[in-house]
Amino acid sequence: MTVPATADVAVVGGGIAGAAACIALHGRGQRVLWIAPDRAAETPVGESLAPAAGTVLAQLGVAHLLDGDGHRPANATFSAWGTDALVERNAAVHLAGPGRVLDRARFEAGLRELALAHAEHRSSALADARTVSGIWRLALADGSQAAARFLVDASGRAATLGRRVAGHRRDDRLVAACAFLPHRDPGVQPTPATLIEAVGDGWWYAALLPDGRLSLACFSDPDLLPRGLSRDPGAWQTLIGGTAYIARWIGDAGFGVEAPPRLYSAGTTWLDPVAGSVDGAGWAAIGDAAAAFDPLSSHGMTTALWTAERIGEAVPAWLAGDRQPLDGYTRAVADGVTAFRTQRAALYAGERRFAGRPFWRRGAAPAAVGSAVCLLRILAGKGPGREVERPP
Ligand SMILES: Cc1cc2nc3c(=O)[nH]c(=O)nc-3n(C[C@H](O)[C@H](O)[C@H](O)COP(=O)(O)OP(=O)(O)OC[C@H]3O[C@@H](n4cnc5c(N)ncnc54)[C@H](O)[C@@H]3O)c2cc1C
Repeated sequence: MTVPATADVAVVGGGIAGAAACIALHGRGQRVLWIAPDRAAETPVGESLAPAAGTVLAQLGVAHLLDGDGHRPANATFSAWGTDALVERNAAVHLAGPGRVLDRARFEAGLRELALAHAEHRSSALADARTVSGIWRLALADGSQAAARFLVDASGRAATLGRRVAGHRRDDRLVAACAFLPHRDPGVQPTPATLIEAVGDGWWYAALLPDGRLSLACFSDPDLLPRGLSRDPGAWQTLIGGTAYIARWIGDAGFGVEAPPRLYSAGTTWLDPVAGSVDGAGWAAIGDAAAAFDPLSSHGMTTALWTAERIGEAVPAWLAGDRQPLDGYTRAVADGVTAFRTQRAALYAGERRFAGRPFWRRGAAPAAVGSAVCLLRILAGKGPGREVERPP
C-alpha cells in the first residue's frame, strides 16, 4: 500500500538543531513537519557560543538573534589546566571575533518562534517510525500519525531514530553536575569571565551569565562523583571546596551555593553513519543526535546549527535524486568527529599533574584515530592560553 506523504521532511526534536533545521529546510522550499514536544520541563545547559556560530547564524538568516541585550561577548577565558597557574585566552584576538555567553533560554525561544513560522508543528514526541514504499510512517506519542519522505533526527543525545538505523558509538561516560548560582553580594561586581579548572577527578567550568548568575559545572565520571550528589547540598559544597580558583571566585564574588546540582550526560558520542536510507526512505541525524562532544570544546550549539544548515541543502538535493550533498554531509561529520577525538585526547594528555588518576588516564587514552580535517575549523575551545598573574 502506498502512503501519501504529508510533508517532504519531518524534523524530530525541539532543541537548537531541530529549530534551525526547520528554518533551513523551509528556506529551500521544503514542506516541513516539526515533531517537537514542549521544552518547558527541560533546562538546557551550556551557554558559551563559539565565534564560528555567527557565520552559521548568518547563513541561516537569523544572525539578529544575537543582537540586543541578554547575551554578552565572551572575551576572556581563564584556565588552570596542566599548570597550577591561571592562564588567559583572550577571544578578542579570534579571527571571527569573540563568541557569546548566551541567555540560552532567550536564544532558544527566538529560534523556536522562527521555526514555528516555518513548519507545521506537532507538540508531541515521536513514538515509532517505519518505512512503507519509501515513505516514513510516523506514530506520535499523542496517538496521531504522520508521513514524510525524509526524516531528520534532531532528538539530541537520545538519537531516537539514529540508534535504530546506525551504529551508536561512545568514547567515555563523562557526566556534568550543573547548577546556577545566584549573586548574593551587591557590593561586588563579578568579573565577566569564564573559568576552567582541572582537578584530580575531572574539571570545572564557571561562566558569569548575562543575568548575573554563575553557571557552574563539574565534569567527571559517574563512579568518581559522590553518591547522591544531586540530592545533597553538603556534598556539592564539599566538592566545590576541593577546587582552588573556582571556590575562590564563588566566595570572593559573593555567589550563593544553595541547591544541589542536576546531572547531565556529557560524554562524546556519535552515530556511524549520520545519514542514509532505509528501504528507500532517507534519514539524517543532526546536532547532538549526530555527534555530541565533550563540552570542553564549546562545540555543541555551533555543531547543532552547522549540521542543520548543511542538512537544509542536502535533503532537498537527496529528494530530487542527487545523493552527493548528503554523502558529503556524512563524510564531513565523520571527519569532524575524528578531528575532535584527536584534539580532545591531546588536550586531556596535556594535563600531567593528575596523570595517575583514573579520570585523566581514561580521558587521555589515545583515540584510535589519525589526523583529520576539523568539523568547523574555527571553533573556540575552552582550552589553555596565555598566563596571567591574577585570578578573575
Ligand atoms: C553540561 C553541558 C554543558 C554544555 N556547554 C556547552 C557550551 O558551553 N557551548 C555549547 O555550544 N554547547 C554546550 N553543550 C552542548 C549543547 O548544549 C548541545 O550540543 C546542544 O544543546 C545540542 O542541541 P540539539 O538540538 O542537538 O539537542 P537537544 O538540545 O538535546 O534537543 C533535543 C530535543 O529533542 C527532544 N526529543 C528527544 N527524543 C524525542 C522524540 N522521540 N520525539 C521528539 N523529540 C524528542 C528532547 O526532549 C530535546 O528537547 C553543553 C552540554 C552539556 C551537557
